[in-house]
Amino acid sequence: GDLVGLDNLVANTAYLRAQQIDRDALRKQRHSLTLPKLKKSSALQAAVGQKYESLCEQQPIGRKLFQQFLLSSDPQCQAAAEFLEELSHWIFAEDEAREKAKQSILATFCHPESRRFLSYLTGEDAERCKHLSDENFNEVVMDQIREATRNFLRGKPFSEYLKSPFFYRFLQWKEYEKQKINDKYFYEFRTLGKGGFGEVCAVQVKHTGQMYACKKLDKRCLKKKSGERLALLEKQILEKVNSLFIVNLAYAYDNTTHLCLVMDLMNGGDLRFHIYKLGERGICMERVVYYTAQITTGILHLHSMDIVYRDMKPENVLLDGKGQCRLSDLGLAVELPKGKMVCQKAGTTGYMAPEILRQEYYRTSVDWWALGCSIYEMVAARLPFKDFREKVQNDEVTRRTLEDECKFEHKRFDAPTKDIISRFLKRKVEHRLGCRGGDPRSHMFFKNINFHRLEAGLLDPPWMPKSNVVYAKDTDEFTDTSEVHDVELNAKDEKFFKEFSTGAVSIRWQQEMIDSGVFDDAFIVSITSLSHLDRPK
Ligand code: ADP
Ligand code: MG
Ligand code: MG
Repeated sequence: GDLVGLDNLVANTAYLRAQQIDRDALRKQRHSLTLPKLKKSSALQAAVGQKYESLCEQQPIGRKLFQQFLLSSDPQCQAAAEFLEELSHWIFAEDEAREKAKQSILATFCHPESRRFLSYLTGEDAERCKHLSDENFNEVVMDQIREATRNFLRGKPFSEYLKSPFFYRFLQWKEYEKQKINDKYFYEFRTLGKGGFGEVCAVQVKHTGQMYACKKLDKRCLKKKSGERLALLEKQILEKVNSLFIVNLAYAYDNTTHLCLVMDLMNGGDLRFHIYKLGERGICMERVVYYTAQITTGILHLHSMDIVYRDMKPENVLLDGKGQCRLSDLGLAVELPKGKMVCQKAGTTGYMAPEILRQEYYRTSVDWWALGCSIYEMVAARLPFKDFREKVQNDEVTRRTLEDECKFEHKRFDAPTKDIISRFLKRKVEHRLGCRGGDPRSHMFFKNINFHRLEAGLLDPPWMPKSNVVYAKDTDEFTDTSEVHDVELNAKDEKFFKEFSTGAVSIRWQQEMIDSGVFDDAFIVSITSLSHLDRPK
């Protein structure tokens, strides 16, 4: 009765307060980090690899240190670093700011007399740069100059970076990144949801204040239901993806009872909840378009890595505290190397494409069909071939999916929405939007979305969750956790758990170090000699 209500209130209060943590206050309390001294930096260097893209572009700390190296290097390197920075301003800016960024690029980098002239360019690229003007300044030309700049950096600057103190500092961060993770690394807060093998709760990294969601998989339960291989697959796919529109993995570790996946915290509820439980049924069109743009970008990211999601539905799309959405629950996702297909039946009734239902071979096409169903559901609060709460056999849904016409009876369907749904719901894969040529992002439905800005996280969400509301069921609704006792774990299981528990995931972890200020605080000495590096104070 009242006590249960009180438990829930206490749990919610602690959880909400943790999210409002004052990062500056935490910074003052924290001891500044002393990075480990490297005993065998050559071995680590080999493990880290030699790829420019990974070391200098994809990994956030690597990117920062490479940039610092360039700025402290010769004028050509400085110009290249500053140019890339200004170029990204121009790409993401709009209106006046974009015009300003363009004028600044022209004035700073394109005049042979300028101190920042891109003098490393050769041949056609050099000509292009010298003759840039108001009229011929466009994305195609700028792409060419950017590629030429990257090619320059990949050469001598990169090989000098690898010999510099900046790279030694990077290796120290990599060593620190390998630290063992356990329960003590986090504070734990309330349960947010429940899955097939355990619960998902909110956690906070103690020394950075960063909030995450932790999906716990009961080891014995996994073994009993033979879910071990699937759990590992889900983890391996999660750690590969790096997108603003997919729930990314930050840590994978285990304790005596559970495997833990620590992921982006999505505290704004799932889209199914927003369609059916809040206010009038369905979501307003401005939000439908915005979410669909983010979902589409997330799906394209998965497909670019030959991953089929197979569980696209509003219930699996979660909102974060700002109102941006991400795809979650990659438990059904599979990686299909080029040219390979599957015919396994997988998905949720009502969202499965005809080719799955007919048990034919398929690739990524099934996600676009399911997206069509999901857009329909966001607008009409029902599925194209199944009414809300309709009691109907799966066979009948299959029959309707294969034979019936999709009807748009709800008054909120406008012409572009009907058109994009109809194109996603083409039964023939070769006619379906997203499958053969044709980019879904160029459809009229998205006419108000600037995908450049969306992908950079710069497009403000049309709706924001309230910061004092917990968009999850009350805690007492999750209490039923039946533990499994009749299963023994053996050496083979332990070996598997070890394979799973790889600790921090590079990109996400490095971003956490930067966002929380740990990176800057550990870097308060200027890099002049290696002996200074070991003891930042
Ligand atoms: P399962 O694969 O076992 O179904 P899910 O990944 O779907 O597990 O997670 C179960 C539930 O936990 C979800 O329905 C959702 O309510 C909640 N949840 C999952 N991931 C997150 C997250 N990143 N942030 C917040 N809540 C989450
Ligand atoms: Mg789920
Ligand atoms: Mg799952």
